[in-house]
Amino acid sequence: MKILVLNSGSSSQKCALYEIADSISDHPPAPLWQGKVEWSERDSKIELRNAQGAALSTSIPLESPARALECLLDALSHGDVRGVSSLSEIAVVGHRFVHGGSEFRAPTRISASILESLRRFAVFAPLHNQAELEGVEIIARHLEGVPQIAVFDTAFHSQMPPASYVYPGPHEWLERGIRRYGFHGINHQYCSERTVQLLDRNLASLRIVTCHLGSGCSLAAIRDGHSVDTTMGFTPLEGLMMSTRSGSIDPGILTYLMRQKCSPDELDEALNTKSGLLGISGISGDMRDIVSAMKQGNERARLAFEIFVHRLRREIGAMISMLGGIDALVFTAGIGENSVEVRAAACENLSYTGLKLDGEKNAPSADDHEISASDSAVRVLVIHAQEEWAIARECWRLLSSTSGNRVSATVS
Ligand code: ADP
Repeated sequence: MKILVLNSGSSSQKCALYEIADSISDHPPAPLWQGKVEWSERDSKIELRNAQGAALSTSIPLESPARALECLLDALSHGDVRGVSSLSEIAVVGHRFVHGGSEFRAPTRISASILESLRRFAVFAPLHNQAELEGVEIIARHLEGVPQIAVFDTAFHSQMPPASYVYPGPHEWLERGIRRYGFHGINHQYCSERTVQLLDRNLASLRIVTCHLGSGCSLAAIRDGHSVDTTMGFTPLEGLMMSTRSGSIDPGILTYLMRQKCSPDELDEALNTKSGLLGISGISGDMRDIVSAMKQGNERARLAFEIFVHRLRREIGAMISMLGGIDALVFTAGIGENSVEVRAAACENLSYTGLKLDGEKNAPSADDHEISASDSAVRVLVIHAQEEWAIARECWRLLSSTSGNRVSATVS
């Protein structure tokens, strides 16, 4: 079964094509085809690659983000870097949806009524959900009748207990949908399942803390295969310090600034795009630049790194206490997968758990690998995020469970 996965962001559109036959392989396979468009005020860059080794990287004129997806669909079936001879080979399309509200707790086949419900949540994550909804409409036009499945970043956290998801504000907030939802769930779930494979243990026996540290950062405390707590909340702004997002701050700062005539849009911009590593260092939101400037003696870069690590340690501690202990600590996403410095600093204060890092194993690697010492009481793993593959798997699982594993390209 050929599965096309769409991952729509505020400034990028990623697509990947996978083929899954009778069962899901333990190791994430290379996609048959991958395409990505990134747009900025200046230009739009398109990158394509297929399983035969053909690749293309170029700039394209782009009138709208919707055109990005149309360009990718065209490239998928035409030209030297195509992935299929015809779009009719595609059996199902999986969409990453950042927000599923409290309604969507599992991957869901999209129908007209589901689409209506999804539109309601667009107000909670306007930058993402708009692009995601447009993606569904474009696919319906280009691949008429092909099933489309929404896979949600919030779903993995949907079993958090009320004590974790209800904000201690007025109770009526809850009735208005103002509660903690959590995000990055597709990758937190993938990492928990991959941990089970790598450690050859039963999911039910493991207390896992997953650290998704990319440009957005969040932790999840995972027990019995479910997230019982996470650091992001109503929006992806709560919790850890991030690349350009502040993470949690005293809400009193916001009311203070509003009284100083700061508008909601100015606050939004400050908290989302002018804070975090960039806001403190004044040079960059990229951890590579922060570490390199810090090594050259830049004091604001050092402060940015120290705040990042301080908050990371504090939140890891909170997740451990929610689980009543820890069996495995997982680092994932851009910073988690690559920054030896952040991993070492995050683990430094965890010796009380019996965790021992192996300095030599804590090195860059393209593979998922263990970085704890052989006598460490806590296993520490680096797992590469595979969001598109994780979505493809969920689509396969859903269709297999509803059609006895026999899905043809014409199912609508
Ligand atoms: P996103 O969160 O945007 O999906 P990623 O998970 O790829 O993206 O994370 C991007 C971030 O990863 C970059 O902003 C950068 O800070 C960090 N990063 C990437 N490579 C490295 C590296 N070698 N060392 C430290 N940080 C890195």
